[in-house]
Amino acid sequence: MKRLGLWLVACCVWGAEPDWATLERRALELLQQYVAIESVNPPADTRATAAFLKAELDKHAIPTRLHPSGPTGQTNLTARVKGRYSSKKPLLLLNHMDVVPVDRKAWKTDPFRPVVRDGHLLGRGALDMKSIGIQHLMALIALRKTGTVPARDIVMLSTADEETGGDLGIRWMMEKHYRDIDAEYVLDEGGFGTREILAAGKLVFGIMVAEKQTLWVRLRATGTAGHGSQPMPDNANMVLLAALRRAMELPPAKPHPLVAEMTRAMGAPLAKNRYTLAIQGNTVSLTSLRSGVGNPVKVNVIPSAAEATLDCRLLPGEDVKQFLEAMRARINDPRVTLEVVNTPEDAGVSSSRTPLFDALRRALVKHHPGAVVTPMLVPHGTDSGNLRRRGVIAYGFTPMVLDLATNNSAHSDAEAVPVAEFLKGVRILFDVLRSEF
Ligand SMILES: [Zn+2]
Repeated sequence: MKRLGLWLVACCVWGAEPDWATLERRALELLQQYVAIESVNPPADTRATAAFLKAELDKHAIPTRLHPSGPTGQTNLTARVKGRYSSKKPLLLLNHMDVVPVDRKAWKTDPFRPVVRDGHLLGRGALDMKSIGIQHLMALIALRKTGTVPARDIVMLSTADEETGGDLGIRWMMEKHYRDIDAEYVLDEGGFGTREILAAGKLVFGIMVAEKQTLWVRLRATGTAGHGSQPMPDNANMVLLAALRRAMELPPAKPHPLVAEMTRAMGAPLAKNRYTLAIQGNTVSLTSLRSGVGNPVKVNVIPSAAEATLDCRLLPGEDVKQFLEAMRARINDPRVTLEVVNTPEDAGVSSSRTPLFDALRRALVKHHPGAVVTPMLVPHGTDSGNLRRRGVIAYGFTPMVLDLATNNSAHSDAEAVPVAEFLKGVRILFDVLRSEF
């Protein structure tokens, strides 16, 4: 009797498959239409994208709420599919609807009239992260179409404002509507599947469990202004250059245990590239230089001041104060000031020893037999860091295998997503949502 009962439960959860041909056709159609909506941030006017997602959710009787958050049309959307056990807190599917601006001259295709070429859909937001948003949407629709009731509530949150830091997106939702998104787990962008980036020649799915801390600083050097014909020792430009050289000489950081965990899981050393380099230590990039007098700038005037910005990324657990003190000590020049533009708050690491992580692994391996699944650290920040800091178990989960060029295409003038991987990702996510965790 007991055995029969178990069998029945398994049958009703796993038995039904949606009509995949129809669902996939619809998924691609929706992705194309969604990318075509210009939700550039700034101004992050996401009224049209939110209405677009809502219309599709309405068709499948999935309840939604719109949350306008800002003066230029910023609008967040939540949708909820009820689960069987109210004792379990929801799983949050987090995606952002905004995209970064485009340099139309540099694009070979129209970034807002997506086309499919060589198996890739091209357009702004195709990868970051409208494809994942549609995967979230389609997985909810697949639950509805098959009459599958997930173990716990699944909440989708589509935010307005990730690309400029989340003040009117995730942070606003957490401050004003936390009850609507209160979850045990969150799946966001961040990880990915790759055959080359993490370990050469090995299919690895990295699931992001931690991100680096983002610290932005501005250096400002002052000196004596004067005529370019007579060089002087306290030329602000030269003072700045020397200070930058010293500021950027970072001492080696203590390796993060997650990196060792990754190599153990992969059974291979990390591949050598800028991505894997960035997760093995603290990094600093010189991102801007500003100086000179006049516009156009006068070539024969030595300016009295020069400025630079540094984008520093620290491993989780690194002490920001100590890092800054050490940088100041290296600069060691009273003519140079160091101003902190952005102070990070360490979000720590989400445990990968959870039933959800196991469910992600099972679903990935089912569709990619032989793939290695590993928790990973990513070099950039995501929205989910805000939730991780609040104790939510947050994973970056991109159920797609991406080659190096595609992975690097986010924010570029040839942003693309592989269509077959996008569609397979819907199946993977559907399997996750209907599993027990
Ligand atoms: Zn993104």
